[in-house]
Amino acid sequence: MNLILMGLPGAGKGTQAEKIVEQYNIPHISTGDMFRAAIKNGTELGLKAKAFMDEGNLVPDEVTVGIVKERLSQDDCSDGFLLDGFPRTVAQASALEEMLASLDRKLDHVIYVQVPEEELFKRLTGRWICPTCGTAYHEVFNPPKENGKCDKDGSDLMQRDDDRPETVEKRLKVNMEQTQPLVDFYSEKGYLRDIDGNREIGNVFADIEDLLKGSRQ
Ligand code: AMP
Repeated sequence: MNLILMGLPGAGKGTQAEKIVEQYNIPHISTGDMFRAAIKNGTELGLKAKAFMDEGNLVPDEVTVGIVKERLSQDDCSDGFLLDGFPRTVAQASALEEMLASLDRKLDHVIYVQVPEEELFKRLTGRWICPTCGTAYHEVFNPPKENGKCDKDGSDLMQRDDDRPETVEKRLKVNMEQTQPLVDFYSEKGYLRDIDGNREIGNVFADIEDLLKGSRQ
């Protein structure tokens, strides 16, 4: 099962990714997580990526494609993978096609979780993250048991800079502009599968499961 998961920020992509990888036992490959881990560990890759990420820019394609290529060639990807946050550009999508062809593999589905823009805005401005374990909460949709504290490890929750209302609008606009060419690319190739993400988490996942079982194409 070779999958890409797409969705604008706040569409619930991270939540669905967790459920998919658990259910289907495939690795979750998030380029954003890989870059954040590299920065935390002070690696050369982290140093390269940080300057771009701090400015809210994409990390250059050759760096990003390089880490994905290395990751996809690892043993645990041999039965499938879930890509999250990659590809972000058509050049990355083309590089991925070449990569997969060289491994004698191809994509199965590009799952696109769709949520209306005004709902995304509401979701994004209420999101709080645990800086220690990365668990995400929402003040309305998924509050922690104790206000401001992580359920898992008790850390003080933080709001990501880019979840602040003043930056959310810009972030959504930029992301929509970035996403559209990829939607067009995969739609033309017949890989794109639209999923209505404006529903309960479990219902969204049920649709994804139906799709992956082959009952919906
Ligand atoms: P994310 O957690 O997916 O929002 O990614 C956080 C940041 O990492 C992005 O704003 C980019 O700077 C960088 N990044 C993640 N994935 C990619 C990608 N596929 N191409 C370029 N930059 C990326």
